[in-house]
Amino acid sequence: MKYTLDTIPVLDAYREDCECPLCRLRIRCEDQYVDSMLGAAYMEPDCRVKTNETGFCTRHFSLMYERRNRLGLALMTHTHMLEVIKSMEKLLAGDGGASRGGLLSSLRGGASSGGTPQAIRTRIGGCVICEQVDASIRRYAYTIAQLAFTNAEFRGMLEKSKGFCLPHLALVLEMSEQTLSAKQAAEFKKLVGELSLANLRRVAGELEWFTLKFDYRNQDKPWGNSRDAVERGINKLMGACVGEEAQMPPHND
Ligand SMILES: [Zn+2]
Ligand SMILES: [Zn+2]
Repeated sequence: MKYTLDTIPVLDAYREDCECPLCRLRIRCEDQYVDSMLGAAYMEPDCRVKTNETGFCTRHFSLMYERRNRLGLALMTHTHMLEVIKSMEKLLAGDGGASRGGLLSSLRGGASSGGTPQAIRTRIGGCVICEQVDASIRRYAYTIAQLAFTNAEFRGMLEKSKGFCLPHLALVLEMSEQTLSAKQAAEFKKLVGELSLANLRRVAGELEWFTLKFDYRNQDKPWGNSRDAVERGINKLMGACVGEEAQMPPHND
């Protein structure tokens, strides 16, 4: 897989002081893709073929639902549903062999264990927006690994940053292993590993102070950075999913 550098958005995300720049970039991508799905993209035949076939996950259906373009969402859902009905007709037809895995799927090797139930889950398991977001975030992670060794300004920003959430730490390490020399990958791992650990410990400390604030003896002591420590703790562990860091940009559509 070949990646291209995408420097400007990465530098912009690092200029904002946040717990995980890749989470920031991920939310921005999701916002754009949700918008374009309900805007021009769903009118394009290629895009419609893809959305009809693949559909969306619950998160991205619900993000599209929150926008006001009900007609766009209705059109896409309708034609996707027609495709799903076609698949379901095939899946549910026949002698029931599929529910025991079927000869064909056992020959293919993979899906033999699940049969029809697994086939239904697989049929609705895709998401066009997840695919696009994942591709973009991989490109950004690649950019981070590369810029760490080619761009002094970025290197300084990375060293002063708050590391990554754990899913994105895994991703940048993976990208560094795949695309840097062994020596640079080891240096990168040491740098972002120490950075991420130090920041995990910091957030854990802030979270602890949050719990101690419930003790009446600490009632009048200052909160420090702990007011939103629950949100930041969860987001550091799992990627931005709660609180302000997980908020989509406001829309008036
Ligand atoms: Zn993240
Ligand atoms: Zn999705």
